[in-house]
Amino acid sequence: MDKVPFYFQSIDFKRLVAEYPPAPDFFQGVFKSPPEEIRALQQRRMVDAVRRAWRVPFYHRRWKEAGLEPGDIRSLEDIRKLPAYTVDDIRRSVEEHPPFGDYVGLNPRAGEVPLRIHSSGGTTGEPRPTFYAPWDREVGNILRARSYYFHGLRPGDMVMNTLLYSTHNGAFSVHEALWYWLGCTPVSTSAGVVTRSRRALEIAKKWEVNAIIGFPEYLLHLAQEAREMGIDLKLKVIDSFGRSDLVRQAWGVPAYDTYGMHEIQTISSECPHGGGLHIWEDAFVVEVVDPETGRPVQPGQVGSIVVTALYKDAYPVIRYDTKDLTRLRPLGQCQCGGWMQKMDPILGRADLMVKLRGINIWPEGVGAILAGDPRLTGEYYCIVERVSDREEMSVLTEHKPDITSLEALQRELEETLRAKLGVKIGVKAVEPGSLAPLTGQGVLPKARRLEDRRKASR
Ligand SMILES: [Zn+2]
Repeated sequence: MDKVPFYFQSIDFKRLVAEYPPAPDFFQGVFKSPPEEIRALQQRRMVDAVRRAWRVPFYHRRWKEAGLEPGDIRSLEDIRKLPAYTVDDIRRSVEEHPPFGDYVGLNPRAGEVPLRIHSSGGTTGEPRPTFYAPWDREVGNILRARSYYFHGLRPGDMVMNTLLYSTHNGAFSVHEALWYWLGCTPVSTSAGVVTRSRRALEIAKKWEVNAIIGFPEYLLHLAQEAREMGIDLKLKVIDSFGRSDLVRQAWGVPAYDTYGMHEIQTISSECPHGGGLHIWEDAFVVEVVDPETGRPVQPGQVGSIVVTALYKDAYPVIRYDTKDLTRLRPLGQCQCGGWMQKMDPILGRADLMVKLRGINIWPEGVGAILAGDPRLTGEYYCIVERVSDREEMSVLTEHKPDITSLEALQRELEETLRAKLGVKIGVKAVEPGSLAPLTGQGVLPKARRLEDRRKASR
């Protein structure tokens, strides 16, 4: 008879919590270790992770092509010898080796370990499959649970999970972190298409939900619904995947940001003392590189996040260029006691970055500056084009009703943008609601913010 790979026997849970301590132990231990100790731990784990990845055809092929041999990577600095890869390389791997690509380090059909599969939340192309084996899965869950503990969640809390339970990973990973590693009770209302938002709010009220987790767009929508229904949930905290500033404003309760992606779960988590997100450096090496050259940017400069997961076994992630833009904060001990490196919230996407007279500009960066002006709705749309020999960017932005002088508003906004970005960007203020056909707001999963007319105008 075949041996059944029971989940509870599939990994050594004692070793798991010793190597990747969950909260609260983590925050008393490795989180407060001095940088030299963290670097030494990272180096040891990185060399091991690279050794494991050599047996995966995807890495073996790419690293051989780069002239590398197993054993060449011996120190943290050596990591840059390994070529980074992007989502395009993953897509190509799936195309050439259907249906799962050649980046999975085990045979999914062997039945030797219990596996689960999820797909990316990608908006274009084929779904990218990700397999999770028990070790990778549980470390990921521990990392996410650390984040929620950091933000104030405690055993006994009732937490509404508004992510969509589907082929995507997000909802399940939130659910498991809360349940397995924090003693909170997940309330699985999911997003509006599963439980109508108003019904979800009624359940939340009845079941005494005291925290919510979700994407910022939905959390803002839910705040509006709650206001209209006159429901006050007595929340202690909201955990948002980005834009915690807007969520905090809309709900009037503490809200924090976590950053991660489905392949590797939670990379970093906003510090309640402010000043950015701490990277869980016992589990990741994060580099920030120039999106064009791939070389490390100067400290404090904006670049694309290249991430290496130190803990992954079944599906190694070594130097994945996420194309998410951030900048690293200066290293130092934080007010919270932690030494782990801090980064800015995600500033935008590298594939939308435009170089104007030597200065990197990205649409979300322009949008964030405009969002600070109370006369605007926050909706915007950037256009980049070639005018004679120069590349120029302009932005359409919606004003609120009752603006007396559009010209004065536009002039002031242009001055603000020039002062903050160091380059001229033309501003045209348009009627509220008029940008929806361009941005696809409310129709597309992710609003369009840039139109590149440079090729057309060449
Ligand atoms: Zn801190």
